Order: sequence, then structure tokens, then C-alpha cells
Amino acid sequence: MRLYLVNPRNPLVSMIHVEESRWNRYRVWKPLGLMVVAALTPSEWEITIFDENVRVPDYGAVPRPDLVGVTAFTSQANRAYEVAAEFRSRDVPVVMGGIHATMCPEEAGARVDSIVTGEAEPIWAQVLADVRHGCLRPLYTGAHANMQEIPPARHDLLTGDHAFGAIQTTRGCPLNCSFCSVTAFNGRLYRQRPIAEVIREFGAIREKRVLIVDDNLIGTSHDHIARAKDLFRAMIRAELRKQWMAQVTINMADDEELLTLAARAGCTGVFVGFESPTAEGLKEVGKKFNIQKNRDFVSSVRRIQRHKILVGGSFIMGLNTDEPGIGKRIAEAGIRYGVDFLNTLFLTPLPGTRLWDEMEAHGRIAANAFPDDWRYYTLTFPVACYRHFSPEGIVREMETCDGTFYSLRHTLRRLWGNFWRRRRPLMALAGSLSYRGTFRLNRKAWRDFLLSRGQA
Ligand code: SF4
Repeated sequence: MRLYLVNPRNPLVSMIHVEESRWNRYRVWKPLGLMVVAALTPSEWEITIFDENVRVPDYGAVPRPDLVGVTAFTSQANRAYEVAAEFRSRDVPVVMGGIHATMCPEEAGARVDSIVTGEAEPIWAQVLADVRHGCLRPLYTGAHANMQEIPPARHDLLTGDHAFGAIQTTRGCPLNCSFCSVTAFNGRLYRQRPIAEVIREFGAIREKRVLIVDDNLIGTSHDHIARAKDLFRAMIRAELRKQWMAQVTINMADDEELLTLAARAGCTGVFVGFESPTAEGLKEVGKKFNIQKNRDFVSSVRRIQRHKILVGGSFIMGLNTDEPGIGKRIAEAGIRYGVDFLNTLFLTPLPGTRLWDEMEAHGRIAANAFPDDWRYYTLTFPVACYRHFSPEGIVREMETCDGTFYSLRHTLRRLWGNFWRRRRPLMALAGSLSYRGTFRLNRKAWRDFLLSRGQA
């Protein structure tokens, strides 16, 4: 039996343009979810993973499979449907899973043979058994997986094309920010894989650099932090010799022992969601966590960087509380905090989030010709109606934000600081070149988007 697993491409996600900027190789992550599904698949299945972010195969020229599984974030939904149509025209059954199919089951269900909602681990064996017996059902409802039973991903199936390996150690997030679908998909409970399993899986990753894809590697409570320290100690003992990056909350800066252990375990960079430079903005998105304990972001970022860990900061633009000038304000916040990279995204109502419910109720979803418009839900297009901005206005704010933070002057100053303090200058250089390249591509994409909406 032959199984193809497909990660669909969205050409509008500029970071995947590896051919246009080779630095983007450092920003294309392996489709870990498909590698876990492959691990759940019995050995009688011959499995191929197609990651369209690396290259799009000629599906007409590959041997006919018995089943195709396709995953999709919302921004990949259109392409997922195209891939499904191609295989279904050859009478190959197509199963779709992932966040989009979970949040929009009716739309997805009309375009594929079967959908799997939620986490696939508890239900995938049943899907395969039903395919084998020719009785595939239209809907399989997954559940939150038992973290003790998640198999190590099939890292052997994707080799050579990606600069980073990928691994997951926890799922779920207790914070439930208004714009984020993690809590709806993975739940509020912070669930952790057994540390011994994580270490074993790390050993199977060939790449030197690894992205830990957890939504928050360290968690928010005392117990979560204690577990993160245990994980880092185990990684040090295992002498993995990997360099890894992860998403964390800013409370990582509060614990010197945690930082020391993370650095010794191979941590070279973290991404922190600052979300907004204002307290009102943080309240609006439900991330008051960031301003607890009168947090000083400047010294928090410095404390992390002292351990030779680079800090990427993420902000959201287009909140109700954002006013004209927000682009410059975010860039200045990033420069003041001292982050190494700035990733500013448009406020985007993704299906399954509280933000979606609110915006839909008030008729504020602007790009709403679905499913076609899902391709713009990359967080890099202004798809909503923003309270204080026209579409052109908010694009101008974004250009000001990226143009200021990634200006030659500020980029060189940051790189010099990294070089002077011996804080991974080559990584900082590669990241800066990648972000500057992405900014260039985004500007063209924004013009095309506004033209397509009759706005420019
Ligand atoms: S944005 Fe981050 S902190 Fe907020 S709910 Fe999502 S994963 Fe949790």
C-alpha cells in the first residue's frame, strides 16, 4: 500500500521563496505533523512526504498511491484543495487533517473524501484500517493525544532539503490569546512528552540545527519551568551537540538557572511574542501575562542575550487600540528592547479564534471570498477591516515598521553589537538578510494585494 503525505505550498508566503533568497532556507520548517503521522503508519505502507515548500512535484508522473493525506494551516487550504482535486480525479481517496480542516470541517469535507479533526494520533490507525477495507468515513474526530504515546517522528523521510530539523516536546497553551488557535486546537492544558522520549528522538535528527516547534517550550507555571530545566539537563547529559531555537514566553528571562541550562543544552535563539508595545494592546489580545510583575522588556531581553541566545520579537499590528504611527512605534519598541529580529504581523482573524468570532459578528472580515481568500491568511496581508486604518494606511504602517527596523543603519548597528559581544554574529547576519529579503518580497505582494482589491 502506498501513502503520500503532502504539505501544500502557498506562494504568497514569502519566506518559502528559497529560489529567490537562499537565506529563506533557514526559515522553512519541516512539516513535523506529517512526519508524526508517518510514524503512526504501519510498516506495510510505503510512505512518501512531499513538502511543496521545497518543491512541487508533478503528481501526474508519480506512481498512483492508495491514499493521500494532506495537512493545512488556513493559508494552505486552497492549495490543499487543488492537490486533493488532482488525486481525486485519479480516484485516489484524499484525507485532510490539520488546523484548517478542524476549524472549517464543512468547507474541507466538501472537497476531500474524509477529514480528521483535532490531533490525529488517537484516530489515524482507524483511518488506515477503513481505507484498507474500502469503507473510509467522511469524518474522524481526533482528540488530545496521550503525550506518553506520541511516537518519534519519521525524520528519515525528509533529508537534505531543510536547514533545520524539527521536534515537539509539549502541546497546548494556557494563555488563550484572542488571535491564536493553539488553545482551540491543542487545548489549554500544557501537556508534556516524556523527557526520555524527546532525547531519543533528538538523537534521530540528522540536522545540526533544530527548531523546537512547541508553542511555548518553557510554559508559564513553576511546574512547567521545572520540567523545562529537567529537559535541558537531560539534553546536556545526552551530549546532543545540536543548536536549537524555540518559541518561549518572556518569563524565560526571570530564571538565571533556566537560561544557563538552556544555553548549555544548545539554545541559540528564542522567539518571544511581545504582541503590542502598549498595555492597552496587550489587554486587548488577552496577553496581560506580558506585563505582570511590572516587566522591564529591555532588561529581560538583555538577560536572555547575555547567554548568547538571540531574541526574535513578534508584534501584531491593527489592534483596535492601535492608532496611526503604530508602525514607527513598534519598530522603536523593537529597537529599544534590543531584539535581534523583528517579526510584525497584521492582526488576522483565523477561524477557531475568539478574534474570528468577534470580527465576523461585526462584519469586519474584509477578505472573505472563501475558500480563495484563505491564501491571504498568512498573517502578512491586511485581510480585516481595521478600526483606525484603511487597507493602504495599514500597509504604509507596516512598510514604516519594517523599513525602520531593518534599515541599513539599524541592521549594521545590531550586527556590530552582536559581533562586539560575540553573540552569534553569523546567525544574526543570516537572519537579518533573510528578514530584509522577505520585506522586499512583501512590499511587492502588498501592492498586488491592494490592486486586486481595487485599493491602490
Ligand atoms: S499566542 Fe502564544 S501565548 Fe498566546 S495562546 Fe497562542 S501559543 Fe499561547
